[in-house]
Amino acid sequence: MAECIFCKIVSGEIPSKKAYEDDCVVAFYDIAPVAPTHILVIPKEHIPSAADLGEGHAAVLGRLFAVVAQMAREHHCADGFRVVSNVGESAGQSVPHLHFHLLSGRALSWPPG
Ligand code: AMP
Repeated sequence: MAECIFCKIVSGEIPSKKAYEDDCVVAFYDIAPVAPTHILVIPKEHIPSAADLGEGHAAVLGRLFAVVAQMAREHHCADGFRVVSNVGESAGQSVPHLHFHLLSGRALSWPPG
């Protein structure tokens, strides 16, 4: 999608510090981390948010969560991390391209704000 910043990260038009990439998934370090480990895991396909997912996305979702788990292992936080996907502005979504925040490295309170 032409104006989507995460699509531009996928294409390389906007630089990012990538932690992982394959044919359908990219993981990169958040530009404004809110935890010592803060990685974004996104599909290369433009999907606006989790509200737009359906049965047809099963394969890409499987890949996304496999990469989340791989990133947690590689960043030595597999024993304690949080996966967050904000949906809609009222929930804090600022980039309308599906992404999963992998957060770890500090105490994470519950419930989230
Ligand atoms: P959300 O607010 O849940 O939509 O998450 C979007 C995240 O993308 C925020 O944590 C931002 O800090 C992050 N972000 C925005 N632009 C970039 C960028 N160019 N590179 C890396 N992370 C970004």
